[in-house]
Amino acid sequence: MVHITYSGNPIDRRANLRPNEDELRIIFTSGAARIVPVWSMKHLFDANPRAQVLSFTQISATVDVTRLEPVFLGFSDDVPWFALGLPDSDTPPTFGTGAEYKTLNEVVTLLPGTEASILAYARAMVIWHGNHRYCGKCGATAKPTEGGHSRTCTNDTCAHRMFPRTDPAVITLIENEARTHCLLGRQARWVPGMYSVIAGFVEPGESLEETVIRETLEETGVPVTDVRYLASQPWPFPSSIMLGFRAKALSMDIHRTDDELEDVRWYTRDDLRSFGKPGPYEAFRLPNPFSIARFLLNTWLDEEKGV
Ligand SMILES: [Zn+2]
Repeated sequence: MVHITYSGNPIDRRANLRPNEDELRIIFTSGAARIVPVWSMKHLFDANPRAQVLSFTQISATVDVTRLEPVFLGFSDDVPWFALGLPDSDTPPTFGTGAEYKTLNEVVTLLPGTEASILAYARAMVIWHGNHRYCGKCGATAKPTEGGHSRTCTNDTCAHRMFPRTDPAVITLIENEARTHCLLGRQARWVPGMYSVIAGFVEPGESLEETVIRETLEETGVPVTDVRYLASQPWPFPSSIMLGFRAKALSMDIHRTDDELEDVRWYTRDDLRSFGKPGPYEAFRLPNPFSIARFLLNTWLDEEKGV
């Protein structure tokens, strides 16, 4: 199986331990726990720019953890792991490491895959807690429960429970009938020259295949069929999972009906291979190598024409 960045998490989640909050507190403060700090949606990395390795640390006495909300991630071998969201402040604690906070996408290409996946997990959990401080039903404060894998309303007559959510998004490589061209578009806010495959969020009441068909039609005007699932990627920016598909176009006529994309074009494999090289596509670029969009494109590029 091909590894996709942010997947392949080595942590055994040990969900059976989540209800035992006393035991989790003992584990958290035992000195054996590895704690992943998350501050302002950033993570702590070694300050050495030539060896930007992940810097996991035990929380020292410099931080009052009793006021924070650790999330039990699980165990890797015999080591317990927790994520810890730190309050926004001008000077986040670095625990005496001399390390610095960076966004995950800044350093992901330098990280071993297992570390990237642990950070994706930690980040998603901390962001979810930050966005669900209050009960969605009655508005009272909600507190973390089950080791941070749920939040429960503190209003006893309500006691509504909320669970971490993942928002599904489809991302699709669309090829023409002859399989010689694929359909790429670009959003105005992307870096100049970048084109990518077609993506969109799943809406309530539709299947994933229906989302692929609807989003492609809305964004490009191209009708598609033969929608096939290929692979997925956790995408905690802030809380998505990208579901990768391949689909076949019934027409090559492009008619954009919304403003999601500023440009849509068909490209051949040779076109894509010449992105960034001297010639007509010098100013063009493919999506980042750690994205499932790039995985879908690389898979297509590796195939022989017309197979
Ligand atoms: Zn409530």
